[in-house]
Amino acid sequence: MDINRYYDELKQLADKVWENPEPGFREFVSSRLHQDFLKEHGFSVVDDLADTGTGYIASYGHGHPVIALLGEFDALYGLGQKADVAEYAPDGKEMGHGCGHHLLGVGNIGAGLIIKDYLEETGTEGTVLVMGCPAEESGSGKAYMARDHVFDNVDIALAWHPATINMVRTGSSQSCIQFYLRFQGVASHAAGAPEQGRSALDAVELTDIGVNYLREHMESSDRVHYAITNSGGLSPNVVQAEAEVKYLVRSTNNRKCKKLYERVLNIARGAALMTETELEIIFDEGLSNTLPNFALEDVLKDAFRESGVPEYTEDEYEYARAFRKTWKSDFTIDDIPSTMKDKKEILEAMNSHPICTFIGENEHSEVCRMGSTDVGDVSWVVPTATISVACYSLGAEGHSWQWVAQGKSSIAAKGMMKAAEVLARAAFKLYEDQDLIEKAKAEFNGRLEGEKYECLIPHGVKPHVI
Ligand SMILES: [Zn+2]
Ligand SMILES: [Zn+2]
Repeated sequence: MDINRYYDELKQLADKVWENPEPGFREFVSSRLHQDFLKEHGFSVVDDLADTGTGYIASYGHGHPVIALLGEFDALYGLGQKADVAEYAPDGKEMGHGCGHHLLGVGNIGAGLIIKDYLEETGTEGTVLVMGCPAEESGSGKAYMARDHVFDNVDIALAWHPATINMVRTGSSQSCIQFYLRFQGVASHAAGAPEQGRSALDAVELTDIGVNYLREHMESSDRVHYAITNSGGLSPNVVQAEAEVKYLVRSTNNRKCKKLYERVLNIARGAALMTETELEIIFDEGLSNTLPNFALEDVLKDAFRESGVPEYTEDEYEYARAFRKTWKSDFTIDDIPSTMKDKKEILEAMNSHPICTFIGENEHSEVCRMGSTDVGDVSWVVPTATISVACYSLGAEGHSWQWVAQGKSSIAAKGMMKAAEVLARAAFKLYEDQDLIEKAKAEFNGRLEGEKYECLIPHGVKPHVI
């Protein structure tokens, strides 16, 4: 597999996306760069998927199996940072690629190119879809795509994410629902005519207090977070006529999440009753939990083992060491994901190297991690699995200036190319052995237990900037 012949153009493309960080559903430049590149390389492209504006599918090949590669390209606010500088050094930009999605999308394109070459050279029947999935950080891009049947014809979905450790991901993630509670009261003079006023801010506060009492009676894996998005104004001598709070509830699956959502709504309804205000509930977004697929995890594991990890030069180690110093000095066993085998050896390696030089082996797990991803919705409609590939110095976590600063380094590019290689190798195995696909589908159907996917986002809600 001659992946390196694409190195220069893929690196250049990822750098351009890094230089144009954009928010979810507004990745206009990044999406256009991706699409133009894919067209130049012989893919047919359909854009504005599921009314997302920037979502696209680039396809090559014909017939089944259809393998989809889930790409992303959105950035994060507050993370503008100069490249290659190992200290906090804002570059004046509003956003930065602190989650490595500039690598993520282009790594998938790399896998798409290698798979295209393979289909062409071997005459194998099958299709590869490079998917541009917008608004992962906030916006639920893939959930809209799953809700609107974009994956209906897909047999298998493969994904990767830039990371600090190489591994095949396992386990589940949380379902979540995000919504606004907007209260409408009556303004009045807070001293002269308080009996005439009905405080919307009181309703927000009583809702928050009620929810804080609810916490004792939730499952320990449930989560509820809130932010007051409108406190009703700056004048304490005016009874606040309008106020709003934004809530995010999470649970281990959609059924439980909807129940928790209803319990929070009941508290808000109670607060409206107590304060004689009107309540409006505005749905914002929702994500499904992730259904793991052990059969696909095994395919990715074999592909990763065959591909191995990148080799680094002494200069690259030196570069990573400078960033390693900016994060906590030593790892402990608690820093190793609980699903990992050989924790002691991994701990030793993590404390002696500035970059991950091994593939961490995971035990298969159904345990739900705290946090949510829109890959969850895809995993409800098609067997899906994900790898993590080291693109940054060990230690630094995602959404940090350290990740933005290292985003154009050769270490990041090597990780991106490795991801492309592993995903492509896994795809070859799946095209060549229909049994692997059947096994993944049987497991997928078993996990659904007769349940049908019901997106948490109602049909009337359109993709929107958050
Ligand atoms: Zn992120
Ligand atoms: Zn991410």
